Amino acid sequence: MRLRTNIFLWVSLATVVPLTLIALGATAYSEHIHRGDLDRQIAANLNSMVVEIDRRLGYEREVIAALAVSPPMQEYMPVLLAAREHRRAPDFALRTSRFTGFLEELQSVLLENGSIRVLDPQGDTLVKVRNSRRTPASFSGLNPYPYAEPELHDDFLLAELQALPEGEVSYLSLPPSLNDFGSTGLPPMQDAAVPLPGPHGMTTGYLLVNSLGTHIARILELAPRMFNGKLLIVELNPETPSRDRLILYDESRGILFNTPKDPDKKLTGAFGEQLLHADNQSPYGVFTTRNGKSRVYYTEYLPYPNKLVTWLIATRIDSQEITAPFHRIRLGIFLFAAIALVLTLVLTHLGARRIAEPITQLAENLKAYARGKRVALPDQYTPSEIRELKDSFEYMADTMERAQAERDHAEKMMLQSAKLASIGEMAAGIGHEINNPLNNILTLTKLMRRQVQGGDLANDLNSLNEEAHRASEIIKGILNFARQLPPQYTRIHVPSWVDESIALVSQEAKRRGIQIDTETDDGLIIEGDARQLQQVLVNLLLNAIQASDRGDHVVVKARQHDASHAMLCVCDEGSGVESAVMEKLFDPFFTTKPIGQGSGLGLSVSLGIVEHHGGKITAENNERGGLTVNVILPLKRSTDHNA
Ligand code: ADP
Repeated sequence: MRLRTNIFLWVSLATVVPLTLIALGATAYSEHIHRGDLDRQIAANLNSMVVEIDRRLGYEREVIAALAVSPPMQEYMPVLLAAREHRRAPDFALRTSRFTGFLEELQSVLLENGSIRVLDPQGDTLVKVRNSRRTPASFSGLNPYPYAEPELHDDFLLAELQALPEGEVSYLSLPPSLNDFGSTGLPPMQDAAVPLPGPHGMTTGYLLVNSLGTHIARILELAPRMFNGKLLIVELNPETPSRDRLILYDESRGILFNTPKDPDKKLTGAFGEQLLHADNQSPYGVFTTRNGKSRVYYTEYLPYPNKLVTWLIATRIDSQEITAPFHRIRLGIFLFAAIALVLTLVLTHLGARRIAEPITQLAENLKAYARGKRVALPDQYTPSEIRELKDSFEYMADTMERAQAERDHAEKMMLQSAKLASIGEMAAGIGHEINNPLNNILTLTKLMRRQVQGGDLANDLNSLNEEAHRASEIIKGILNFARQLPPQYTRIHVPSWVDESIALVSQEAKRRGIQIDTETDDGLIIEGDARQLQQVLVNLLLNAIQASDRGDHVVVKARQHDASHAMLCVCDEGSGVESAVMEKLFDPFFTTKPIGQGSGLGLSVSLGIVEHHGGKITAENNERGGLTVNVILPLKRSTDHNA
């Protein structure tokens, strides 16, 4: 896999996976927290509605209790006391009318619609006000006073009334005959009843207040509904099976609170069972319906202090209403995560390319270097590790190139030495073989020349003698080159030694119009073979003079090069040498001079002598033309080269 792909994959994995996990975790956690908050909020909402209903019913009970002991009621008491004895009070009509008038006003101000009744101790209606309007006492019965309703003997009701605690507000179910809803259906609420206390602890009658639940209906109507929850109120009544599970209010089915209740509309079905089951487990709580479509919050309420009747109040919320905001939040988070993902991928891609590119480039350069091509690397490499890698590569390449150059030089030197050695051997053999016959030719020529006086033959013999001399000189050179005698070391005072050497070539220099200058350190002394080294300097000077034009200068410099070496330079203003010539400069018998003028042995002999002294000889073209030959020699005799 490519480096860039590798970096890309790892960085992507290292960022995208944790990012996604964090996004998912954060969503789940915030959803969990929010759901808990919502559950508490909706339950609190439901509770505050229950508190409102309770406050209303409590208030109604207080009003009814106060009415039972109110002055108008006391004023009406003589009528009730007379009724207790089956008599008609003398001012029956007046008292009844005044009391009824008071009740009319009271109902319109304090109590809601419904009916207020005052019953005589036998349970018959003396006074009745319905919806703030009196029902005239116009019905006659067994007793000598008229009733506000047709007389009904209901022993069951009477027994129930007689069992009620005196002076307290209790609740009971009126028979349909006294029920304002009559036979149209069941009333939503039970009726409040207070036995009226008379003198000596006897019951003088009963105050009955029949509520239609208008105020409760209003409370339910105004209660805030979170998430469009639908309210439901079910009566749980173990005492009266006909009312048990009766639906008092169901917003989703349009059943209002203050309307007659259909005895058939009861809490049934799977949802009903689930709600009742939950209620059995705990008096308040929350659950999700089995089909998962709704979330139901419920609580129990005991509306009647003296009855085992419970209102199960629930609010049913569509699950989607609750989860919708979370869907939006989740969608938002995923959207952000997706944008972050794309950004991460793009940045990772760019970053990976930025890191991998220089490495790839370095690798390419390494390959190119292996093929022998060195490419210059850009300086601006980041990060720093890659810059270090590039520096290391360049250091390695430099070191290798230096080592290669040194090896090449050593090889060249070895080749040169081997060449010199074999040529020397051959030259020594040839020189030796030719030298003897050549000496004989010279001797014979001299003898013949003495015998011939004048004429062409004498001239020819002279020429023969000259040519034999020249050949003899060449042979001497060859033998000189071949002999390579070890140096005879003496202390050489370099400045005077240079002057002596210059004196040897001064004739030639003068003849060619060349000026020879010196720049030498005064006290420079070296150890070496003065005669051999002079041969070197003379060779160099002759070459320089021969390469120079009339009027040129040749400079001889001699100075200390470093702590243990001296440097001798011969510098001319001549033609210099071409690179092809430069390579062969020190080869034996290499010459560019016309036949008869150069043997090609000067520099190779000089090289041999210098190397025997443990030194080095090099040549380089001057920038302004001409050639400089540098000779580096040890100041002191080297133990390696004392043989
Ligand atoms: P020779 O002088 O007999 O030719 P050398 O070995 O002394 O032999 O020189 C070899 C060759 O090097 C010369 O033929 C010449 O071409 C070249 N050479 C040497 N010294 C110089 C110089 N100072 N300037 C130009 N060429 C030179």
